[in-house]
Amino acid sequence: MNPVLQRLGRGLSDAVFPPTCVQCRGLITTEIPEADAVVTDAGIFRHVCRRCVTQIDFVKAPHCTTCGSPFYGEIEGERICPHCEGLQPAFREGRTAVLFKGPARALVIELKYHRGLHVLGDMREVFRRAEHVCELARGAVLVPVPLHPRKHRERGYNQTALLADGLAAVAGGGARVEALLQRTEDTATQTAFDRRTRMANLKNAFALARGVSINPDFHYVIVDDVFTTGSTLNSCARTLRRAGCLNLDVVTFGHG
Ligand SMILES: [Zn+2]
Ligand SMILES: [Zn+2]
Repeated sequence: MNPVLQRLGRGLSDAVFPPTCVQCRGLITTEIPEADAVVTDAGIFRHVCRRCVTQIDFVKAPHCTTCGSPFYGEIEGERICPHCEGLQPAFREGRTAVLFKGPARALVIELKYHRGLHVLGDMREVFRRAEHVCELARGAVLVPVPLHPRKHRERGYNQTALLADGLAAVAGGGARVEALLQRTEDTATQTAFDRRTRMANLKNAFALARGVSINPDFHYVIVDDVFTTGSTLNSCARTLRRAGCLNLDVVTFGHG
């Protein structure tokens, strides 16, 4: 997003709503008033209080190489977790920054359902701290999972594309966002279906956006806010593979 707009938006929202924590709703108090932020080991946060920042559950190795979900305890050989059984990923590797719970979940909900564009800076800080995610995204073409055009119009923005902008900024190395995919089916009402029906319906839910092309020499990384069953991401991956994408990974903000 345009940084001037972002600053303006933040100024306006702070004037109307004093900055409160997305998780506990407590007022954000800072030692550096002019910075208007909570500075912690985990990064600089404006909408998560010092106490709640410590509850953000960053994913560390070892983790499932398909969805990024952490393994606990001793790991021998097996690198696929129970979430990913039967997924048959069309991408090489998946990594996630945090577990989708507590303050991390609150940030996603604020962004997605409460028009909370002001939390994007905090989400970028989460990505900055998630080194294994930045490493995978560095220098890559980041492809946000698209919204259906109707939903995009209603919401006014694709939160995943905005998240990808933040990830590109902290990953560096020439990482950039390209909206290469579009939705062909409205999958918004599919939550009532069981997993199998949902996966079948998602098979043809995405297509290459008009006028774009794939360079097989480039590294592509699909970006989504949350990894749940992986079926949406896998459907995107299949579309990009069919279009000639050879070097393809997946990154999500949260796993839950
Ligand atoms: Zn809090
Ligand atoms: Zn997994």
